[in-house]
Amino acid sequence: MAKGSSMHQDTLVIHGGEYIQEPYGSLTTPLYQTSTFVFPDAETGGRRFAGEESGYMYSRLGNPTVNQLESRVAALEGMEAGAAAATGMGAVSAATLAFLKAGDHVIASDCIYGCSFALFSHLFERFGIHVDFVDMTDQHALESAFRDNTKIVFLETPANPHLRLIDLTMVGDVCRSHPQVRMVVDNTFMTPLLQRPGEFGAHIVVHSATKYLNGHGDVVAGVITGSAEDIHLIKMTTLKDMGATMSPHDAWLIIRGLKTLSVRMEKHCENARHVANFLRDYPGVSQVFYPGFNDHPGHELIGRQMKSAGAVIAFELDAGYNAAVQVLNKLEMIRVAVSLGDAESLIQHPASMTHSPLSPDARARAGITDGLIRISVGLEHVDDIIADLQQSLDRALNAPHAKLTAV
Ligand SMILES: *Cc1c(COP(=O)(O)O)cnc(C)c1O
Repeated sequence: MAKGSSMHQDTLVIHGGEYIQEPYGSLTTPLYQTSTFVFPDAETGGRRFAGEESGYMYSRLGNPTVNQLESRVAALEGMEAGAAAATGMGAVSAATLAFLKAGDHVIASDCIYGCSFALFSHLFERFGIHVDFVDMTDQHALESAFRDNTKIVFLETPANPHLRLIDLTMVGDVCRSHPQVRMVVDNTFMTPLLQRPGEFGAHIVVHSATKYLNGHGDVVAGVITGSAEDIHLIKMTTLKDMGATMSPHDAWLIIRGLKTLSVRMEKHCENARHVANFLRDYPGVSQVFYPGFNDHPGHELIGRQMKSAGAVIAFELDAGYNAAVQVLNKLEMIRVAVSLGDAESLIQHPASMTHSPLSPDARARAGITDGLIRISVGLEHVDDIIADLQQSLDRALNAPHAKLTAV
């Protein structure tokens, strides 16, 4: 019984995708924690390996629990099929490398997740795949980056850590005039509930399921969605042979987490709106990066391509590096950790954490100032989140040593 995409997304997070027929009437998806599958006879095994008969063979090639998650996320994205990966980076690498060979060219947004940037700029170059990083808010820059051998256009919106927005309709239209190109969008920050890049021309949508899709901070995982043909190719090449496939147990946990995605996203976004307003009004905070503000670049894309501003916010302290570190240290409830999309509010300092591998120069060019802080607003009561931020900001910014040592 396949659940059609005519249902609402709030329903699809619970019922979307292929239904697993199992004999005991289990309400929840059974966890097929098995490495291999027993063939009833040798001939059946032969037919399955020959592709003449469907059926499971070995969990790296396919597993019913993992397949359920794949089809559920695909239904949510409005895509034909899905493929699960061991991590978000497993998804990014499998989804791109499946379409690339030495001599090919990739256009990537100049504002993408750090490990995607590292993959493209270091590993791809080693294998003769050249990547140009362009500012995709600039249509002309994007158009002039195309070459005859361009195979992939890769982007992320909103993008870390300034929540930069890219117009998916514009990128989709530009890509449409290059039929050999696949547009790949990392939709981790939005989830399919807030943004469905496929509606704007994306061929492939990738996720770090570590974040909102799972939502409970207990799994690292990735998901790829796209056409049945592309997903088949990815599964049969980069996923199967490079091997970054998802464990059935992780799939089972994500299926469990996914059921509450719509209620979680609603509260994440509502909490974030209040936290952004609080930060904007706080005297020592010089700037708040939050797509929900009218003056955020690309704000008009809310409503057009994204249903809401999301729940990741960055803010800048005039007082610089040490003050930012002190703000983190003085928090009592909010957890100091990278990652995002969990029930717990998580806060991090890009200059010393996620973006520390960049040289100070590269950080400055990317606008990662010493006083920049990123928060993933969680599901706690918003008054408690704000109270914790308030007390830590009060204490950190009023502390004389924080000001004295400020850069
Ligand atoms: C976390 C993240 C990734 C990488 O995902 P992992 O699950 O950590 O491998 C990729 N893209 C974005 C936008 C992310 O936030």
